[in-house]
Amino acid sequence: MTGTSEPTVYPPRPRRIFCNRTLNLRAIRAIGYDMDYTLVHYRVEPWERRAFEYMCAKLGAQGWPVHDLAFDPDLLTRGLIIDAELGNVLKANRFGYVIRASHGTRPLDFEQLRRAYGRTLVDLGERRYVFLNTLFSLSEGCAYLQLVDRLDAGVLPGTMGYADLYDRVRRSADEAHFEGALKAEITADPERYVERDDELVLALTDQREAGKKLMLITNSDWGYTDRMLTFALDPAMPKGARWRDLFDLVIVDARKPDFFSRRMPLFEVATEDGLLRACPGGIRKSGMYAGGDAHQVEEWLGVSGEEILYVGDHIYTDVTVTKAALRWRTALILRELEDEVAAVGTFKPQQAELSALMREKVQLEFDLSQARLALQRRLGGYGPRAAAPAEALRERIAALRARLIALDERIAPVARHAGDMLNPRWGLLMRAGNDKSHLARQVERSADIYTSRVSNFLAETPFAYLRAPRGSLAHDEDQSLV
Ligand code: IMP
Ligand code: MG
Repeated sequence: MTGTSEPTVYPPRPRRIFCNRTLNLRAIRAIGYDMDYTLVHYRVEPWERRAFEYMCAKLGAQGWPVHDLAFDPDLLTRGLIIDAELGNVLKANRFGYVIRASHGTRPLDFEQLRRAYGRTLVDLGERRYVFLNTLFSLSEGCAYLQLVDRLDAGVLPGTMGYADLYDRVRRSADEAHFEGALKAEITADPERYVERDDELVLALTDQREAGKKLMLITNSDWGYTDRMLTFALDPAMPKGARWRDLFDLVIVDARKPDFFSRRMPLFEVATEDGLLRACPGGIRKSGMYAGGDAHQVEEWLGVSGEEILYVGDHIYTDVTVTKAALRWRTALILRELEDEVAAVGTFKPQQAELSALMREKVQLEFDLSQARLALQRRLGGYGPRAAAPAEALRERIAALRARLIALDERIAPVARHAGDMLNPRWGLLMRAGNDKSHLARQVERSADIYTSRVSNFLAETPFAYLRAPRGSLAHDEDQSLV
């Protein structure tokens, strides 16, 4: 027997690639990668804390009392929605119903939630809502919630509503990202802020050697991109090679999402220190560019739509727009999935217990409804006559109610535990109670595949046929509780 018959081992679930829409990697001719939080994964806590501190410094300079604010990584998760009209943050299910909310940092109780959102369906097309699309959104969201508390306490200068406050926070986040100081700190000490992935270069090399054109398309500028990728990729490159040798095309300052939907001027990165030269003739050869747009990329590649895969972490910019405007195939990088899938795995025995309790509850509720109807008919003198007398029916109803109350007491702690997995305030990213979350719905709609990190392509190989599972429907037999 030769070694060729050895079975290969599939990666553990948290590192798998999950598929919404069947994708044959063999049919993909070009793969575009986003950089920040995609090829380069930042350690969320130090990066977002530093961004938060820069934002506070900007606001503090305008006389705001922010010196004692501190970034709290557990206050928010990706996929939540800021309601800038009311100063709230929301978790919604796939239909847009709000299932949890907090005003500033203070969670709303059931009654407050019902009053504020009982008649509201979240529609992300409305200006008041801001979807937290990426891990970069955490610092901004955290600053906003803490400042809503301060606005309510009357300690912010001037008169301002919650929406004005959001605009101010947004502006300070933009400034922190655009001005050089924050990025200079990151590039000066990348070890502190970047989590290197030793398998990444091999995964990209496999794809390249399999004949796919690799592209980097990032909103970051040339200097920052070069420093980050030198740190993240160069140590694993073969001797004498650099990160750029992996890519047929590098586009910095891409201005996504407009990059995917508009026509924009293209420049060539002419020198190592990032001098730009106009390139009116479009992309003529492999190399490093700034700006431009997706149509120029398609022209250069000679392929379009379904043969191009774009991989990114920003749900709107990298995935929703790419699919809507160009019909490229899309992959979403969702690093939190590793903890989420692991948590769901650990919870499996309790989930089985919860499902068993719920089956029992459904049966008891069914029995109770039958008994109530039998009593109603008997007292109303209509319909088929129940064998049992009214008194016996009343006793049965009381007994069933008592059993249901006792059962609910057993269900409550397990259900609570199910609801605070991963984050005690907000629960799992992809679930909203028993239903899918708004985030899960967006992912399902726009991302053909999703996975925790780019190097998960390594185990799948460039030849994988990624198949979507058979979708479930409420009338499927295995979905039923009875
Ligand atoms: P990409 O993910 O590689 O396309 O690049 C993201 C770039 O956008 C990084 O340079 C970030 O610093 C920057 N960025 C992220 N969030 C914001 C923001 O809120 N305002 C401005 N720039 C941002
Ligand atoms: Mg990104």
